[in-house]
Amino acid sequence: MSSTVTPMMAQYLEIKADHPDALLFYRMGDFYELFFDDAVAAAGALDIALTKRGKHLGDDIAMCGVPHHAAEGYFLTLIRKGHRVAVCEQLESPAEAKKRGYKSVVKRGVTRVVTPGTLTEDALLDARRHNFLAAYANVRGDGALAWVDISTGAFSVLECDVAGLGPELARLGPKEVLLSDAGEGDFGGIVEDAGAAVTVLGNAAFDSTSGEKRLNSVYSVKSLDGFGTFSRCEIAAMAAVVEYLDITQKGKLPLLRPPMREKRESAMQIDASTRKSLELTHGVNGGRSGSLLSVIDRTLTAAGARLLERRLSSPSRDLAQIGTRQDAVAWCLDRGDVAALLEDRLREVPDLDRALSRLSLDRGGPRDMTAVRSAIAQASLIADALPDDMPDVLAAAARDLTGQETLLALLDDALIAEPPILARDGGFIASGYDAELDEFRSLRDEGRSVIAGLQSQYVERTGVSALKIRHNNVLGYFVEVTATHSAKMLASPLSETFIHRQTTANQVRFTTVELSELETRILNAGGQCLEIEKRLYSALKDGILDQAPELFTLARALAEFDLSAALARLAREENWVRPVMTSEREFVITEGRHPVVEAALKPSGTPFVANDTDLSDEQIWLLTGPNMAGKSTYLRQNALIAVLAQMGAFVPAKAATIGIVSQIFSRVGASDDLSKGQSTFMVEMVETAAILNQADDRALVILDEIGRGTATYDGLSIAWATLEHLHEVNRCRALFATHYHEMTGLSDKLDGVANATVTVKEWEGDVIFLHEVKRGTADRSYGVQVARLAGLPKTVVDRAKVVLEALEKGEREGKQKAVIDDLPLFSAKPTPAPQKTAPSEVEARLKDVLPDDLSPKDALDLIYELRGLV
Ligand code: ADP
Repeated sequence: MSSTVTPMMAQYLEIKADHPDALLFYRMGDFYELFFDDAVAAAGALDIALTKRGKHLGDDIAMCGVPHHAAEGYFLTLIRKGHRVAVCEQLESPAEAKKRGYKSVVKRGVTRVVTPGTLTEDALLDARRHNFLAAYANVRGDGALAWVDISTGAFSVLECDVAGLGPELARLGPKEVLLSDAGEGDFGGIVEDAGAAVTVLGNAAFDSTSGEKRLNSVYSVKSLDGFGTFSRCEIAAMAAVVEYLDITQKGKLPLLRPPMREKRESAMQIDASTRKSLELTHGVNGGRSGSLLSVIDRTLTAAGARLLERRLSSPSRDLAQIGTRQDAVAWCLDRGDVAALLEDRLREVPDLDRALSRLSLDRGGPRDMTAVRSAIAQASLIADALPDDMPDVLAAAARDLTGQETLLALLDDALIAEPPILARDGGFIASGYDAELDEFRSLRDEGRSVIAGLQSQYVERTGVSALKIRHNNVLGYFVEVTATHSAKMLASPLSETFIHRQTTANQVRFTTVELSELETRILNAGGQCLEIEKRLYSALKDGILDQAPELFTLARALAEFDLSAALARLAREENWVRPVMTSEREFVITEGRHPVVEAALKPSGTPFVANDTDLSDEQIWLLTGPNMAGKSTYLRQNALIAVLAQMGAFVPAKAATIGIVSQIFSRVGASDDLSKGQSTFMVEMVETAAILNQADDRALVILDEIGRGTATYDGLSIAWATLEHLHEVNRCRALFATHYHEMTGLSDKLDGVANATVTVKEWEGDVIFLHEVKRGTADRSYGVQVARLAGLPKTVVDRAKVVLEALEKGEREGKQKAVIDDLPLFSAKPTPAPQKTAPSEVEARLKDVLPDDLSPKDALDLIYELRGLV
C-alpha cells in the first residue's frame, strides 16, 4: 500500500482546496477530468461512466471525464442541476513543463468559475432573454438590489426594502443572487422562492467603502456621482457584484456599462404571484410558450427581444415616457415604407452586446469582430435611410447609430468576409492589411515560387543558366552549380555573395545570406503568421473595446428601433389601438380582447368575443356567471391591457382610455402550494391580505373567486368584507368575480360597485357560453349544467338537479334545513344499459330504405307510412 501522493495529485488537491464548493474540471490534454467526490457527483448528474484512476493514500481514486471540446454542454447540465464548475486549465504546454525539469507537472490554474449567473457562451444562453446575476445588500433595514447581465454588460441598481425584494426578483428573474453571510438567513428563503440560486459571499464583499473605491477604478472615475447619487446600500450591492465577477472570472472583469439607477416608484408594481398568474413573460409551464411575451414578440434581433422583455416586465408609470414610446410605435405604423426598410436591415443585425462581452472576457473570436463590423454597417445603413421628422425616442436613437465610421473602416480593412470562429488557427486577417503578414503568408504559401524567383535572380547575376536552388535535410536550401561553373562563381565580386558549403563529385554547393534568411523565414513563416495575426487580433480587440461605451449605445439604439417597429407590426397585424393615457382614474376599454386566448382560439376558427369595461364611475365591477363563461379571461384581459398600455405598446381593443395604474394585483384561481405546506385557502388568504394592505387608489385589482377554498358562509363573508374594504379603504379600481350571488346585492349599498355578468344561453337543458360581459346579474349559476358538460355520470347530474331544486325551494320558503332532511335518499343505481331487443316495425321498414333513390314525393309518402306504424 502506497501512501505517497503523486505530484499531479498534490497539484490537484491544492487547487481543489481553493474551490471546495465547485466541481473541479481538471484539464488533462484533450479531456477535463474529475476526481473523488466531484467525480461521483458529476458522473451521476451527467449520466456518464464513473471509473478509477490509480490510488490515493491507499484508496482507489474515483474518476470521470469529458472531452474538452464538448465541455460547454456538460457545464450547462451541471449548472441546471444546481452545481458550480471551476474550470482548471493547463497554463503551459507539456514541452514547457519538461524544460523546467524532468517529471515536472504542467502548470495549471482555475481560469474561470462557471455559475448560473455568469454564463457568456451563446450555446448556454437564451439569446432572447437576459441572464442576470444579482446581489442584495441590506443595512439596518435599508436595502438595495444590484444586477448585471455579464453577457451584455447591462448593470443596474435600485433601492429595495425586504418587502420589495420578492417582487423585484420576480420581475428580473435572476439566475443567481449574492447574499452576505449575515443576509443569507434573512433573505435566502425569498431568493429561493424566486427560483434563483443563492451564493453567499463574506460580509467584506459588501463593504461600501472599499466597494466604492473599487467601482471608481472599474469605471476609471474619481467618483460615481457622474452616474447618479447612490446610497451606501446601493454601492454595497454593486460592489458585491463586482467582487464576485472578479472571483469567478479570475480577475478578467467583463465590460460593465455605467450603473443605471432605477426607482421602484417609476414602474408599475407587480408582485410575484400577480406576475405568475398573468403569465406576462413565462407561461404556466415556466417556459416562454403561453406567455403574453410569446404572443406579442415580433422583434427581429436578440437585443430587441431582450428590450421587449425588460419593458414588459416593468411597465412605466410615467405619462411622458409612455407617450414618447407610443409616438415611436405610431410613427412606425404610419411610415410603413421606413418600417419595411428597417425590417430588412434589422434582420442582418447580429447580437452586438454579446459579441462585445465575449471579446472583453477573452472568450471571443474573429466572428465576434465581424459581428461588431456588420452591426455598425447595418446601423449606418439604417441611419442613412431615416427621414428627419421622427418622434423623440427614435430621433435620439438615430443619433446613436452613427459615429463608428473609423472603426468600421478598420474592421473592413482588417478582417476577411467570413472568418473562422477561433482566432487560434489564424486565417482571419484580410490580405493587404499588414505588409509583414502578407509577406509571411506568401512565404508560407508560395515558398517554392519565392525560391524560384531567387534562383532566376542568381542566374541573371552569375550568368550561369544551370544554377539551381535545391533542398536537402542536411544542408537545407543551397545553390548548386556544376564544378565547371563554380570557378566563375568564385570569381569576385560574386564570391562575396556565394559562400562555399560543399563540393561533391560533380557539383559545388553554396549558400547565401539571403538564402539562409529566406530559409529560416520559410520555416518560421507559418508560426510567424499566427504570431502576427494574434498581435493584430489583440490590437483590433483593443480598438473595439476602446469604443465599447459607444458601441453599447449603438446596440441599444438598434434595439429601440427593432422594438418600436415590432410593436407597430403587432398593432397592424392584430388590429390593436393606441390607448389614451391620463393621470385621472379612468379605465374605459371598448371591445377589449385577451391576446393570448385570442391567439389560442385562432387555429380553430372560433372568434374571440370582445368585451367592454368602464371603471371610471363605478370603479369596482362584481362579475357573476357560471364557470367556463369567461370570467377569468375577462379579468386578466383588462390587466394585460393595462400592462401593455404602460409599456408603451398598443392594446388589443377598439378604443381604450386608461388613467395610469400604479400597481396591479391579480389573485386568479386557486392552487395549493404543497411544497410550502400551505393549503389553497391559506395561500389565497395570504395573497388577499397582501392586496388589501398594499393597494392604493391608483391600483388595479383583479380578484377571482376568493373564498372558494372554505365553507360557503365563511367564504361568502370573507369575499363580502374584502369587497367592502376595496371600496371603502383601498378605493382602487377592481374587477371581482364571484360565484356568490348573494353579493350582487352590494351594488345597491355601495356607490362604486356595479354588477356585471358573463352571459350564457340555455338550450335544451345545455348551456351555451356566449362570453359576453353585460351589466347586471346572472339569473342562475348553471353549475349543474356545466358539470354535465364535463362528463359527470348522469345519475349524479340528475340527483344534483333534485337537490338543487329542493334547496332553492327551501331557500324561498326559509326552511333549508328541513328541506335537506326531507330529501329522499340518493340512489346511485346506474342507469340500466340499453337492452338488445328485436327491431321494431318502424326500424325494420327504415332499414330497407335507400334515401338517395327516393323522390320528394316518395319521401313524403314514406313518412305517412311510418307515422301509421307508430
Ligand atoms: P371562467 O373563469 O368563467 O371559468 P374562463 O375565463 O376560464 O372561464 O374561460 C373558459 C374558456 O372559455 C376559455 O378557455 C376560452 O377558451 C373561452 N373564452 C373565454 N372568454 C372568451 C371570449 N371572450 N371569447 C371566446 N372564448 C372565450
